[in-house]
Amino acid sequence: MRDMIVVGAGLAGLSAGWRLRHWDTLVLEASTRVGGRLSSERRGDYWLNWGGHVFSGPGSSTDRLLGEIGVEAVDIPGSLQGMAMNGAFIKKGHIATYPFRIPMSAKAKVAAVRTGAKLITQVARYVDVVRVRPGESGAKRQQRIYDFANDRTFQDFIGDLPEDAAALFRTTVTRSAGNMDQISAGAGIGYFSLVLGMGQGLNRGIVGGPSTLTESLSVALGDRVRLGAVVDEVVEHDDHVTVRWTESGVQREEAARTVVMATTADVTHRVGVNLPESLREALSLVKYGPHVSTAFLTNETGPRPWDDLYAIAAPKASFAIALNQASIVRGAETTRKPGGSMMTFSPAGLGAALLDKHDDEVKDIHLHDLDAILGHGFADSVVEAHTKRWAVASPYCFPGRAKLQTTLTRGSDRVFLAGDFLGTLYTESAVTSGFEAAQRAASIVATHRQRRPLRAPSADTSHLAVVG
Ligand SMILES: Cc1cc2nc3c(=O)[nH]c(=O)nc-3n(C[C@H](O)[C@H](O)[C@H](O)COP(=O)(O)OP(=O)(O)OC[C@H]3O[C@@H](n4cnc5c(N)ncnc54)[C@H](O)[C@@H]3O)c2cc1C
Repeated sequence: MRDMIVVGAGLAGLSAGWRLRHWDTLVLEASTRVGGRLSSERRGDYWLNWGGHVFSGPGSSTDRLLGEIGVEAVDIPGSLQGMAMNGAFIKKGHIATYPFRIPMSAKAKVAAVRTGAKLITQVARYVDVVRVRPGESGAKRQQRIYDFANDRTFQDFIGDLPEDAAALFRTTVTRSAGNMDQISAGAGIGYFSLVLGMGQGLNRGIVGGPSTLTESLSVALGDRVRLGAVVDEVVEHDDHVTVRWTESGVQREEAARTVVMATTADVTHRVGVNLPESLREALSLVKYGPHVSTAFLTNETGPRPWDDLYAIAAPKASFAIALNQASIVRGAETTRKPGGSMMTFSPAGLGAALLDKHDDEVKDIHLHDLDAILGHGFADSVVEAHTKRWAVASPYCFPGRAKLQTTLTRGSDRVFLAGDFLGTLYTESAVTSGFEAAQRAASIVATHRQRRPLRAPSADTSHLAVVG
C-alpha cells in the first residue's frame, strides 16, 4: 500500500507532492500537463502567459517553495497602476488622482472621489486585519480575513454610482473572478489593498514564466507524477483510502494510507464520495468565476511607451486588464531587446461573455481593444496570439463564505484537502494548503510506521558467535 496519493498536479498538489517526496507518493493528474491554472510557454527571451502571473513575496509559503526548488522570482519592475479609459492613458500615480485625470462628468468624478475615500478608509482597516499577529496560527488569521465585511456584497458597499465611476471600481474588483454584486464587501476591499500594494502583496514574477515553477516541481517528482490519470472516486476506509482512476481508457485502483485532494472544490465534491457530509455540503457552496485570457507575442524592434508598465487596467474594454509579461525582461536588460509579450484577461462577467465564443473571435476582440489602448502599431507587431478559457478560474469570497472555512479545512481522518479555494490569496493559498495537507498526511503515515510489526528474526544463525 502506498503512503500517499495526491490528486491533482496544480500548484497545490505539486506543493504537497514536493513536501511528500521522501515518502512512497503518487501524484495523479487528469491533464496531459501539470500546473493547472498556471500556464506559460517560453518564446526566446519572453514567455506567453495565460494563467496566474503574480506571486507572493518574502516570508510567504510561495517564497519558501521557490527557494526549495531553486526557481527565481523577482519584484515586478513595471508599474502596476496603469489605466486606460475614455481616451486617457495614465501610467503612474496614486489611484485617488485617477478620477481627476480621466475624462468623465463632474457627477461621476464626485461619486468616484467620495467612494474612493470611503474605500481607502476600509483598506486601512483591512490592512490591520491581515497583519500577522505574533504567535497566531495561519488558520486564525485566514478566518479573520474571511470574516472581514462578509455580510454584504461589494456592490452594496459602494451603492449605485454613475457608470464611469462604477467602471473604475469594477475593473479592479472583478479580477477576483466575481462580479461586484457577487463578491463580499471585504473581498472587494481586500482586492484594492492588493492593487495598492498594502498589507499583503502579489507583486513578484517568476523568471522564465510561471510554468517554470510547476514544471520544475514535476521534474523533481519524476515518475511519481502520472499525467492523463483522471481520478473518478476517492473512498475513505478505516485504515486506508481507495483511489480509482482512468488512464488511457483503463480503470485502475490503488490503496493508500492517506490522500491529498488538490482539485478544485467542485471536483473534490464529485470525487470525494464519502467525505463527511458537512464537508461535501461546504464544498458544494464554494463559488468560482471565469477568466478568458489571450497571450500576444510581438516583434517590435525598439522601445515602447508601455515598457515601464506591468498592469494596465481597462475599465471600458472587453478585458479588465492588460499585463506586460515582458516587464521582467525589461527590468533586467541594459539595452532594449527586440520583441515583447502581453497578456489580456477578461474576468467574471467579461469572461462569461466570451466563454462560448470561438478562439479566433476572442483573439480578435482582445487584439482590437488592446490596439486601441496601446496604439503605436501594436496590432501589426503581433506575431503569435493564443486564447485560453477558464470556466473555473478563481474562487471568490461571497457573503457568507467565512462560515464555511472551519468545515472546509477540517478534512477527514485520512483525506486532506488543498487548493486555492481554502484561502484568500490564490497561488499563495494553493501552496500553503498543499504544505499543510502534506504535513497532516505525513504525520498519519509516520504514526503507522512506528506501529509496524517487526520483521520475523532470520533462521540463519551462522553469524552468531558460539560462546562457552
Ligand atoms: C487568467 C488567470 C489569472 C490568474 N492570476 C493570478 C495571479 O496573478 N496571482 C495569483 O496568485 N493567482 C492567480 N490566478 C489564480 C491561480 O492561478 C490559482 O489560484 C492557482 O493556480 C490554483 O492552483 P490549485 O493547485 O489550487 O488549482 P489548479 O491549478 O486548478 O489545480 C488542480 C489540478 O487538478 C487537476 N484535476 C482536475 N480534476 C482532476 C481529476 N479528476 N483527477 C486528477 N486531476 C484532476 C487539474 O487538471 C489541475 O491540474 C489566476 C488564474 C487565472 C485563470
